[in-house]
Amino acid sequence: MECAHDWTVTGAWVVGTPLRPGDPSSNRQPVAGCDAPLELACRVCGESRGIRCGTSRASKCEPCAAVYRGRVGRVAGSGLVVGVRGLFLTLTAPGAVEHYAPDGSLCACTPVGGADLAEWNARASVRWNNFVRDLSRALGADYFVDGRRRQGVTYFRAAEVQRRGALHYHVLLRRVDGRPVQITKSTVRALAIRHGFGHSVDLQRLEPGHASYVAKYVAKSADERRDVPWRLWRTPRGFRQDAGTGLWVNPRTGEVRDPELVTSPSFRTWSASRTWGRGMAQVREDQQHHVLTLAELPVWKHAPVPRAWSALAVPRRPDGSSEPERVPITAG
Ligand SMILES: [Zn+2]
Ligand SMILES: [Zn+2]
Ligand SMILES: [Zn+2]
Repeated sequence: MECAHDWTVTGAWVVGTPLRPGDPSSNRQPVAGCDAPLELACRVCGESRGIRCGTSRASKCEPCAAVYRGRVGRVAGSGLVVGVRGLFLTLTAPGAVEHYAPDGSLCACTPVGGADLAEWNARASVRWNNFVRDLSRALGADYFVDGRRRQGVTYFRAAEVQRRGALHYHVLLRRVDGRPVQITKSTVRALAIRHGFGHSVDLQRLEPGHASYVAKYVAKSADERRDVPWRLWRTPRGFRQDAGTGLWVNPRTGEVRDPELVTSPSFRTWSASRTWGRGMAQVREDQQHHVLTLAELPVWKHAPVPRAWSALAVPRRPDGSSEPERVPITAG
């Protein structure tokens, strides 16, 4: 009878001492494309296998972090639409100390005594939701479906961790109806301050290069997560936490998740509207599909490589719903 397997983590490479495939000092099986693979073993039959660590932190494993960064860039880029003028927006935390506006008045962005960063960080995503709701209304972009109001802007939001531990948001944003985003900096600043962000805002015209730009911030903040206070994790259903490594392991399937990779309500390294483009799961699926397709292709040695081969078409949604044309995404 086949073993149903009861997987547990039996080994993890120590951070800072990466072992590459073929390293003679390793007595464990190396895993291609990962500097810090995990070793799983079945408690019942003793079968073992190595898997990629899949981290988002470059300090832990460069190759896996690069894969993650590339996927985040694809998710961010998937929501860009050719010919639609969007906004690249940066929001900051309020100041550490009270300060004055150019007209000599006390700036309203910072409360007396400075902002409590632990509290501010924990509420930043709620502040963002309120901010973007009001921004959409200020733009007159909202629309109605069956009498219910729908938010008329869609976005991809990346968090950057500042040196003092405060979060910054870098946001790719466009209107759902395809009209250009037209708003003044002073309006955005007033909205930002009203919702507890700092007075320092930045507005730029959205460019395709911003997708990989924000992916770099996501990778950076994934590495700096420990410096940001956020709520405790809860072990997902079907998983248990491995005492040695702190990782979540599903004993049935052998699936391993890094608690630091999983998003939390209070601090996500990135987040996107459902209407933005493709989600992380879809991007992962697309890539697997792409690899499968390549594997199924016949091998031919002398056929010229078609020029269009370098362009990867984003597949249509399975439900057949029409989607706007996508900007070609370059691997970042
Ligand atoms: Zn087994
Ligand atoms: Zn790895
Ligand atoms: Zn201020």
